[in-house]
Amino acid sequence: MAESAGKAAPDAPSHMAHGDPVETCPGVFIARIPLPKPPGSVNVALLHDVEGWTVFDTGVRSAAAEARWETLLEGLVGRRGHLARIVVSHMHSDHSGMAGWLAQRSGAVLAMSAAEYLTGRMLEAVNAGPAPEAAVAYQRRAGWPEDDIAAYRAAFGGYRKAIHPLPGAYVRLREGDSLSIGGRQWQVRTIAGHSPEQVCLQDTGGNILLAGDTVLSRISPNVSVPTWEPEANPLQDWLTGLERLTRWPRTQMVIPGHGAPIADAAARARALVAEHEAALARVLEALDQPRRAIDLFETLFHKPVTRATRFLASGESLAHLHSLRARGQVAPRTDERGVVWWQRV
Ligand SMILES: [Zn+2]
Repeated sequence: MAESAGKAAPDAPSHMAHGDPVETCPGVFIARIPLPKPPGSVNVALLHDVEGWTVFDTGVRSAAAEARWETLLEGLVGRRGHLARIVVSHMHSDHSGMAGWLAQRSGAVLAMSAAEYLTGRMLEAVNAGPAPEAAVAYQRRAGWPEDDIAAYRAAFGGYRKAIHPLPGAYVRLREGDSLSIGGRQWQVRTIAGHSPEQVCLQDTGGNILLAGDTVLSRISPNVSVPTWEPEANPLQDWLTGLERLTRWPRTQMVIPGHGAPIADAAARARALVAEHEAALARVLEALDQPRRAIDLFETLFHKPVTRATRFLASGESLAHLHSLRARGQVAPRTDERGVVWWQRV
């Protein structure tokens, strides 16, 4: 899931709307794979090399994604070689969901960061069973009443349905690694926050940055406290990552995971930092009296939170609260029912 709960999805730029791959610079093609839910599509890159193509990101598991990939594999890829490597930016299903299918169909190797691969495998396994009690306790602490908790339990397992199982082995990508593809050097850069160790690929020739969901053109990537790491401070991780991103060498084009290309990644990163600092200030102001994570939606989001986005929304509220706690500005108090109330100190 990419979009921040309650924020607008981007419009599709006309030249990329139909899924035809666009050659943005020699040997680098960008295509869109449809998604059944907002933001409607995911951007993928196909990088040509005489030794075999590398793709970056894959889409969610669906018949529509399969059909689009069949067309790409038989057309663009098949005309000039074969698929050799699948790089997945992060384990969210809209990016990793078709990787297992692509690997099985082509024999290509999977390349991911360790935290993304292992978290993806863990979620795949956990989603085969009922909602873990730790995850249910997390939702209860956030303030959700029992009927929402029942809905959470009933809907649990969605991740497994949204992905083809990842291959049983992978190639590990680390910050600072360099991939040589089609005469270009691609530097691996990682940013935490939206997910544990998201990979971006930056062409050192200055042409292009494949940014995944670290920066998006018109929406803010969802940053949530994971249920399996309930004390985490992912918002601070992400803000720190965005600060680092502003110092990366500038590229002519930035392809985000969804929506239109971004002209200037550093400017977009600074805008996202400012947006979240403003949100943190609003939350702090609202905490002149004790509030639960679920009481902050109107303070945080521009659009109403729906049934479909409610648990993402409370995860994002918690991310803001944990960031303020780490700064020493708010403190939690747990009531007799186990619900956590937050207040300014
Ligand atoms: Zn995404």
